Amino acid sequence: MATSWGSLLQDEQQLEELARQAVDRALAEGVLLRTKQEPSSSDQVVSYAPFTLFPSLVPCALLEQAYAVQMDFNLLVDAVSQNAVFLEQTLSSTIKRDNFTAKLFDIYKQVLKEGIAQTVFLGLNRSDYMFQSNADGSPALKQIEINTISASFGGLASRTPDVHRHVLNVLNKTTEATKILSNNPSKGLALGIAKAWELYGSANALVLLIAQEKERNIFDQRAIENELLARNIHVIRRRFEDVSEKGSLDQDRKLFMDGQEVAVVYFRDGYMPSQYSLQNWEARLLLERSCAVKCPDIATQLAGTKKVQQELSRVGMLEMLLPGQSEAIARLRATFAGLYSLDMGEEGDQAIAEALTAPSRFVLKPQREGGGNNLYGEEMVQALERLKDSDERASYILMEKIEPEPFRNCLLRPGSSARVVQCISELGIFGVYVRQGKTLVMNTHAGHLLRTKAIEHADGGVAAGVAVLDNPYPV
Ligand code: ADP
Ligand code: MG
Repeated sequence: MATSWGSLLQDEQQLEELARQAVDRALAEGVLLRTKQEPSSSDQVVSYAPFTLFPSLVPCALLEQAYAVQMDFNLLVDAVSQNAVFLEQTLSSTIKRDNFTAKLFDIYKQVLKEGIAQTVFLGLNRSDYMFQSNADGSPALKQIEINTISASFGGLASRTPDVHRHVLNVLNKTTEATKILSNNPSKGLALGIAKAWELYGSANALVLLIAQEKERNIFDQRAIENELLARNIHVIRRRFEDVSEKGSLDQDRKLFMDGQEVAVVYFRDGYMPSQYSLQNWEARLLLERSCAVKCPDIATQLAGTKKVQQELSRVGMLEMLLPGQSEAIARLRATFAGLYSLDMGEEGDQAIAEALTAPSRFVLKPQREGGGNNLYGEEMVQALERLKDSDERASYILMEKIEPEPFRNCLLRPGSSARVVQCISELGIFGVYVRQGKTLVMNTHAGHLLRTKAIEHADGGVAAGVAVLDNPYPV
C-alpha cells in the first residue's frame, strides 16, 4: 500500500505546525489519557493519547470483510462459551501448566457446579487483524486475536475521526477529509450494555464497572459511561477490593454493591495475573456466582484465550460449533492465520521443529493479554529450546507471523517530537451481542479501531506504549 501522504511527510516544518494543530484538536475532542506519573487522578495533568498525524490507507475490501465477519465471530465466541465439553478438552493441557488460566477455569467449574444463575449474556469484544502481504503483493485480512474481556479504545476511537479530518482540512484536502469514516464504538458498546440492563429487568439496578484506581485509560471508559447515563442508566465504578468489602448476594443470588442492586458487571480489569490478589479472586467468584449480567462471564473470558483460538483453527471445529452455517464458517476461516498446538506429542514436536528452522515466520504466545507477552526471533528460539522437552510448552501456542507491507506515517506522542517512521497497522472491529437464555436478541458490529506502530516493535498495543491511535483511510 503506497501512501498518498508521501510528499507531506517530507516537509518537516509543515509537519511540526500540523502536529501542533492536531494535538490541540485531539485535546479538544477528548482523545485523552491520564499520565504515567498521575494514573489515579485527572486533577492536575492529563495528556493526549498518542496518535498518527495522518490516517493510514486501508483497502475498502478488507474493511468490509472485517465488518462482515464480525457477527460470525460473535456467534462463534458465544457458542464456545456455552460448550463446556469443548472448553474442558481445549484447556485441559494448558491449565496443568498455566496458573492464571487454571484459576479462571476453577471459577468456571465452581459456577457450573452450583448452576449458572445468569440468564442474560452480553458480549463486547474486539477482533483484531493485520493485513498480510501476499506473494503477489495483494493484502489479506488475517486475525491476530479476539479480545473478549476489557476490549478497549472504543471510546477514544469515537473521537479521533474529527482529529484526522481537521488535519486534512488544514491542508485544504476537504474531499479527502470527508472520506474518513465516522466511528462510534462507545455508543454501540453502550447500546449492548443498555440492552442487557433492560433484559435484566429491574428499573433501579445499576451497571457496575470494575476498574482499578490507577487507570490511565479512564476517558475511554467514561465515554461509555456517559452514553449510558444519557439513557438514564447509572454506572458505578468500583475495584475488586470494593466488591470483596461491600458486595453481597441475596438468596436469589442477586448482586448488591453498597446496598444497590447490580444488573450488569462490566469488566475493565481482571484479564492479567497481576490484577488479582487472593481477595480479588474471591471477589471475581462472587460476581460470577451472581445472576447479574457479567461482561464477560467467565466462560466467555476463557473463550478468548489464545489456546481456544488455536483449537478453533483445527479441521472440523467450526463445523462442530456452528452446525449448518457453512457460509459463516467460510468467512471465519478465511481470516485464520496458521495456528499450532504445542501440546506434548508429535504434532507439537513438528511445530517446534519448524519454528526452530524458520524463526522469523512464527510468534510464540502464552495465555496472556495486554501486550508485551509474545516472543519473537532469538527470544522465541531460546524459549522453545528451554520448553521443548517440558509439558510447560502446552501453556503456549505457536502462530504464523503476519508480515504486512510497511508504509510511512508520522507518530505523535506526548513529550516527543513528531516522528516519521515505517509503520504497520492493526485493525480491530468491535462486536456486540446479547443473548437471553437460548435466544440471541442482538448481534452486531459497533465500529472499528485502527492502531499503528513503528515496524521496529514486534509486539504491543496502545496501552503498552507501542502502538498509537489511527483511522483507516479507505482506498
Ligand atoms: P495481546 O493479548 O497481548 O494483545 P496479541 O496476540 O494481540 O496479544 O499480540 C500482541 C501484539 O503482537 C499484536 O498487537 C501485534 O502487534 C503482535 N502480534 C501478535 N500476533 C502476531 C502475528 N501472528 N504476526 C505479527 N504480529 C503479531
Ligand atoms: Mg492484542
